[in-house]
Amino acid sequence: MKVCVIGGGASGMVCAIRLARRGIDVTILEKNNSVCKKVLATGNGKCNYFNDNMSIDHYRSSNNEFLESIISSNINKVHEFFDSIGVVPRIKNGYYYPFSNTATTIKNLLLLECNKLGINIISDTIVYDIIKDKGFIIKTNNLDYKFDKVVMASGSCASIKDDYNGYKILKKLGHNIIKPLPALVMLEGFDNNYKDWAGIRVDVSVSLYEDNNYICKYDGEVQLTNYGISGICVMNLSGRVSRIIDNGKEAIIRINFIPNIDDGYKLIDDRNNLLKGMTIIEILESIINYKLLYIILKKCHIDTNLTWNELSNDKKMLLIDNLFNFEFVVRGSKGFECAQVVSGGVDLNEVNNCFESRIINGLYIIGELLDVDGDCGGYNLGFAWISGIVAGDNI
Ligand SMILES: Cc1cc2nc3c(=O)[nH]c(=O)nc-3n(C[C@H](O)[C@H](O)[C@H](O)COP(=O)(O)OP(=O)(O)OC[C@H]3O[C@@H](n4cnc5c(N)ncnc54)[C@H](O)[C@@H]3O)c2cc1C
Repeated sequence: MKVCVIGGGASGMVCAIRLARRGIDVTILEKNNSVCKKVLATGNGKCNYFNDNMSIDHYRSSNNEFLESIISSNINKVHEFFDSIGVVPRIKNGYYYPFSNTATTIKNLLLLECNKLGINIISDTIVYDIIKDKGFIIKTNNLDYKFDKVVMASGSCASIKDDYNGYKILKKLGHNIIKPLPALVMLEGFDNNYKDWAGIRVDVSVSLYEDNNYICKYDGEVQLTNYGISGICVMNLSGRVSRIIDNGKEAIIRINFIPNIDDGYKLIDDRNNLLKGMTIIEILESIINYKLLYIILKKCHIDTNLTWNELSNDKKMLLIDNLFNFEFVVRGSKGFECAQVVSGGVDLNEVNNCFESRIINGLYIIGELLDVDGDCGGYNLGFAWISGIVAGDNI
């Protein structure tokens, strides 16, 4: 049996290795001049390749039940796989990196294993069509190839500069593509004057609302920028934000700049009683970034020389609202070019539990091409490895 893996990225490399270990003749067709280009960019070049907590809560997909069972039953296989190719993990707060702290290690060890197993890697080859014959005819910019089975592992259109055609190829074969939208990406606000707060980083809690209905919440550091907001907690919300806006609804992020306080009013009132006569700036100086506090006071039209007691009740409530429930209306995201992944892709209900297409026998679909997207923290590579292992062991 001859198998073609289209795409030498995270999922494709692992799938090819698992197939070759079973003695199957595998060829990888890769668009770029070398494999694993995106893997090299992961985790700021350090490659956060897995996580200790692979809970389904960290994912969005069109079939969470299937996703949960496939992930939970293959976690050990991922650890065994990385041990077997020689990766030594460095685990920080449950996040896995290669001990060398460089993504090149992951690429090099995957490539070394491919070479040891005699996997044929044909680079600079763009697949533009798959034709189901007795087997499959793969049409590329160079030659046409014939294979018995095909694994589509061409990733997503996130963060790539040239054309991406994976969805088009699978749509032509009859697959339903859930509209891909940017995810794990920075968000832009409507008010284009965010210059004042640019550069401030604060630990916050961010809650997402769709037309005022609560969706979800993340804690973490937010980076305030001249276009809007960024940071891991914001990126984790961003795929859902893209979907809300694409559905024509309003996406609002409420930022709590002083999280984990039950009663904000009481906090300020108590500090005011303790630090009698001090201005609001002075009583909150040690609690919130002073630059941000000035911006919030300005937004509330509150004179920075005033004390808490000098504020009207309305102004007090307005200040509390802006400190603990700052409303950021999202205009959109920084787009696919800045996105780490996409939300959307091939409907997960259209593959069986070996990742074989339910529409075309002998065609397998793995990795980010499928409608699965995870939080920052090794979840997206985690799914790429798992889908590659499962397909590679079952074809
Ligand atoms: C900047 C950045 C940082 C990231 N950091 C992390 C992180 O730290 N942890 C994490 O878990 N995830 C991270 N991700 C996400 C992660 O990289 C992807 O989810 C993962 O690489 C997906 O694996 P894949 O095999 O599906 O696709 P890819 O790894 O993208 O591989 C797809 C391959 O297919 C090739 N290809 C595409 N089209 C064709 C075609 N028509 N013909 C032939 N070949 C084709 C591509 O060139 C590519 O080599 C990050 C992503 C980015 C962009």
